[in-house]
Amino acid sequence: MPTEKLPLAAKGLQLNFCKTLACDNFGDSDEQHYLVQRTNPKRPALVCRKCGAFPPLINNQEVLNELARQQQVQSHSLPSCNNSECEHFGFDVLTHRELYHAFGYSGDRQRYRCKSCASTFVDKWSGENQKSLIQQKLLGFLFTGYSVREICRRLHINPKTFYDHINQIASRCRRHMSLFDSRLQHDRTSIQLASNATPLQPLSNNGVFWYASAEVNSGYVIAQHINYSETDEPGTLLDHDPFQENAQYLSNTFVNEANSQPAIGSKSIFKRVDHKYQEILARANVEDPLGNYVSLNYPSKGAIIRPPYTSHAHFLEIQKAFSHCDSIEIYMPQEPMLRSAAMSIFLERIKENSIDLLYVTQDIAFPTEESGDKIDIHLVGWWRDRWAFTEINGQHKGICHLNGAEHNEAYWLKRASATVANEYQTRFYNQFTNLVNEPRRKLRPASLLPLLDIFRAWHNLCHQDKLGITPAQKLGLISKPITLAELLS
Ligand SMILES: [Zn+2]
Ligand SMILES: [Zn+2]
Repeated sequence: MPTEKLPLAAKGLQLNFCKTLACDNFGDSDEQHYLVQRTNPKRPALVCRKCGAFPPLINNQEVLNELARQQQVQSHSLPSCNNSECEHFGFDVLTHRELYHAFGYSGDRQRYRCKSCASTFVDKWSGENQKSLIQQKLLGFLFTGYSVREICRRLHINPKTFYDHINQIASRCRRHMSLFDSRLQHDRTSIQLASNATPLQPLSNNGVFWYASAEVNSGYVIAQHINYSETDEPGTLLDHDPFQENAQYLSNTFVNEANSQPAIGSKSIFKRVDHKYQEILARANVEDPLGNYVSLNYPSKGAIIRPPYTSHAHFLEIQKAFSHCDSIEIYMPQEPMLRSAAMSIFLERIKENSIDLLYVTQDIAFPTEESGDKIDIHLVGWWRDRWAFTEINGQHKGICHLNGAEHNEAYWLKRASATVANEYQTRFYNQFTNLVNEPRRKLRPASLLPLLDIFRAWHNLCHQDKLGITPAQKLGLISKPITLAELLS
C-alpha cells in the first residue's frame, strides 16, 4: 500500500511530525516514518512508527490563514496603505514607518503616502479626540462595573452610540498598543512568557477560547487571540478534515465525544496532573479541549475556529515578534493544545537549544522564587511526561520541562511561573462579570471583542500595582502611568 501523504506544507511550514522529544522521529516530517490514520474520521492523526504516538493532523495553510485573519482583526482601522493591489497593503504605518512618507495634514490629522503605490491615506486617530470627555466618563463607569443600560442612562446616549464609542476607543487602544509592542520587541535579546487559554465566557459554554501571553516579570500582555471570527461562516464538515480547505472552521452541529469531569478539590498535585492527562486522552483530538465538552452553544453569528488553529497562530505571532531574541522561555498550563503548538512552531529553536518550554501548575499561595526541600520526580500520563513536584507549607507546585532539560528541577521550580497570564484574565472576569456572563451575550461573543482590546491597553499602560507601577513602566517603555485621558488622546 502506498504511503499516504501528509497535509501539504505551506510556505515552508510543515507542522505534522512526531512530537515525542525522545523519539528519533521528533520533528521529522518524512512520510516514511508514519502511518496516516484516516479510516476513523473522528481521529485524523499520524501514528509514529517508532514510538506509537498519535499527533493529530493539522492543515498548514489554514494555520497561516488563521494568523492572517488574526492580524487583520488587530490592525483593523490602523492607518495603512488601502490599495489592495499594493505590496504594502495592510502594513500599518505605526510599525512599518519605513514603507511610507509623511505627507502633510488633513485638518489636524497626519496624512501619509505609500512609497510603493503613491496612494495617500489619513491617520484618522492622530488628531485631537473630540469625544475624549464623554469617552473618559464612559470608561470610568464601565470599569466601576455599571451595566450598559445604566451607562447609557447616565450619559444620555442610546446603546448604538455606546457601542460606537466602545469601537472607537478600541481602535485607539490598538493604535497605542501597536506602538508600544514594537518598541518592546526591538529592545530585547531574551524574553520570558507565561501563556494561558481559558473560555472567554466561562458560563456560556460557547466554545470561544481566549489565548493570552504575558511577559513574566512585568505582567505586560504581548499577545491575545480569540478562536472566533465575527465575519466568517461555520464550517460545513462535521469532522475535522485537515486535507480540506477551511478545515479550521468548526461546524455548528456539535457532536459530543467524551464526558469527563475535571478533578476538582483533589489535594494531591500528582492526582490532579494525572487526572488531567486522563481528561486529555478522552478527547478524539488530544489537542482540542472542545473534545471534553458535553454540549456547545454555537454563537448565533460568525464562526468558531477549531482551537488548535488559533493556538498555532498565537505562537506563530510570538515567534515572528521575538525571532531576533537569543533565548525564549514559555510557561503554560498542562494543555496539549498549547504544548503542541509551541513545540511545532519553535521546532528550530528546540533543535538549537534556544528555548525552554514548561508546563507549570501551582497552588495560588505557593511562594515565588522558591522550591521546597524535597523534589519528587514522576513520569505521568500516556506520554510519560517527566514532572517534578514540590511542596512548601502545604502549598504544591509542579513543573514539566517539555523540551528535555533534566537535572535542574530546583532551578525551574523556582523560576517558572505561569500566573501572570492567568491573573490578567481573572482580573478581566472580575472587572466585567456582568458583561461577560449576561445571558443574552452567551451566543454573541462578538460584543466582548473591542472590550478585550481596551482591557489589554488599560492593563499594560494604566493599571498600577501596589507600588503604583504599570507593566509598561516595569519594562521601561514609559516613565509614569498613562491616564485614561491620555489613552483616549
Ligand atoms: Zn515518535
Ligand atoms: Zn501602497
